[in-house]
Amino acid sequence: MKNRTFKHKKLVIASHNKGKILEIKDLLAPLNIEILSAYDFSLKEPEENGATFEENALIKSTYVTQQTQLPSISDDSGICFYDLDGEPGIYSARWAGLNKDFNLAMSKINDAIKEKKNPSYKCHFICALSISWPDKYNVTVSGQVDGTFTWPPKGDKGFGYDPIFKPLGYDMTFAEMDPPSKHKISHRLIAFNKLINRCFPNLNC
Ligand code: IMP
Repeated sequence: MKNRTFKHKKLVIASHNKGKILEIKDLLAPLNIEILSAYDFSLKEPEENGATFEENALIKSTYVTQQTQLPSISDDSGICFYDLDGEPGIYSARWAGLNKDFNLAMSKINDAIKEKKNPSYKCHFICALSISWPDKYNVTVSGQVDGTFTWPPKGDKGFGYDPIFKPLGYDMTFAEMDPPSKHKISHRLIAFNKLINRCFPNLNC
């Protein structure tokens, strides 16, 4: 397992997803460094053709670092439904189509689960985070939060699939939680804590 202490003063978030950028900025706030995003450089999105969340995260961070010559952090994440053999998984964004219509994506999931006999409704979010440095060093970690599918969608906070995901032990969806409450238990936080241990050992958070 590779570790490296992060010593740069700038870090680029390798994402165009505004929901993710906001969450990652919040998580990185204690670092007190300049946080930029792919929007600041008008970067294109690289083709995400990895077979896992980790591979796709690495593709995104290495692409942005190569383009900007700055260290970057990427997030590849998604939701996996036990009753759908893990789908949509790494295709979570694609299920929403070119218009990024998550109401449509959530309906597709509901329709697919309704067809199953004795569905378990079990699901989980996964987040892989990758940091790339200009000298081609990379660190990649991942985190998972387990939960239950719920229908109809509830709540207007968060983004993406939050309205149909109830984390285990809670009687509300991620979209009904205040952002700080979601951040305390999310797949992103679990992955981020691993990254803190490996790249930001002096950070108290
Ligand atoms: P990608 O990582 O850019 O391929 O996109 C992953 C997709 O998974 C996002 O567009 C969201 O729809 C979904 N996703 C990832 N993390 C979350 C989350 O915390 N809440 C809700 N949806 C999420």
